[in-house]
Amino acid sequence: MSPDRRPNPPVLSAEQRRANLLLAKAARIERASVKEAITTNTISIFDAINDPRESIQRMKVLDLLGSIPGVGPARAQLIMERKKISLTRRIGGLGAHQLRALRKEAGIMKLDPKQGSLVVMSGPGGVGKSTITAYLKNDPRFWVSVSVTTRAPRVTEKDGVDYFFVTENKFDQLVASNEFLEWANFAGARYGTPKTPVNEWRELGKHVLLEIEIDGARQIRKTDPTAKLIFIAPPSWEELETRLANRGTDSPERREARLALARQEMAAAAEFDFTIVNEQVEGVVAQMVSLATAP
Ligand code: 5GP
Repeated sequence: MSPDRRPNPPVLSAEQRRANLLLAKAARIERASVKEAITTNTISIFDAINDPRESIQRMKVLDLLGSIPGVGPARAQLIMERKKISLTRRIGGLGAHQLRALRKEAGIMKLDPKQGSLVVMSGPGGVGKSTITAYLKNDPRFWVSVSVTTRAPRVTEKDGVDYFFVTENKFDQLVASNEFLEWANFAGARYGTPKTPVNEWRELGKHVLLEIEIDGARQIRKTDPTAKLIFIAPPSWEELETRLANRGTDSPERREARLALARQEMAAAAEFDFTIVNEQVEGVVAQMVSLATAP
């Protein structure tokens, strides 16, 4: 684009400029206090990485590493080059691979982050669990587990993103080698939660979210009494019926089967630690965050 065709920068009023300056100043103060906490070994770098404040998510990884006592700017740069992380990368842009690589770097974990909690979310089909999950996927405090399943992928689904799609044989092998935290049969297919990433992410301080059916939630209850089991309920049974009816082009039999299953699922609500009624997704997400972060 030639310089004369460049769009004009937005014209800010004096008041807007003042507000921006104040925001920038507040962000600098927040970043400085996080760096200070790292320098004094009060928090680990992963506590900073999991800090949802925008000012911290926008902080440069180079600055973060450089504040670790005994690391400093020069070694921070070397580490990033070795881990193939761009020197301009900001905390919020770090990928899973890079986070794991940093965790393994000798000498940078002066302190272990506070272990993240295990949050299990279940509820009847059609209640809106996947919308809630989509919100939490974008929250730096959370990591959403990717399950293994034997069912066929739907057209929009990607292997390794929505699920790991495997054969029955492969699933058998994973069961035999004890790779699952839990697994269950559901609607003619098997679904399981891989154990290793759940443990790794919790050690990195992330709250791990499992969106699983009731039988799996019951298994987690037994194996990890600290897990927080959350049941998502519809505002009313009629509302759930309407939502299920509006879902795609089910035959009347299939719709009836879905409703029967939903009835069974609703009956399990009492086994959960918390029930959240899905009136409005933002409200549910806020409650999930506060339950996950509560000690
Ligand atoms: P869908 O096939 O519609 O994606 O999922 C069917 C059901 O399986 C949903 O209730 C979902 O929560 C559950 N599910 C997905 N992954 C797992 C898993 O790893 N373990 C268990 N127990 N249930 C799962």
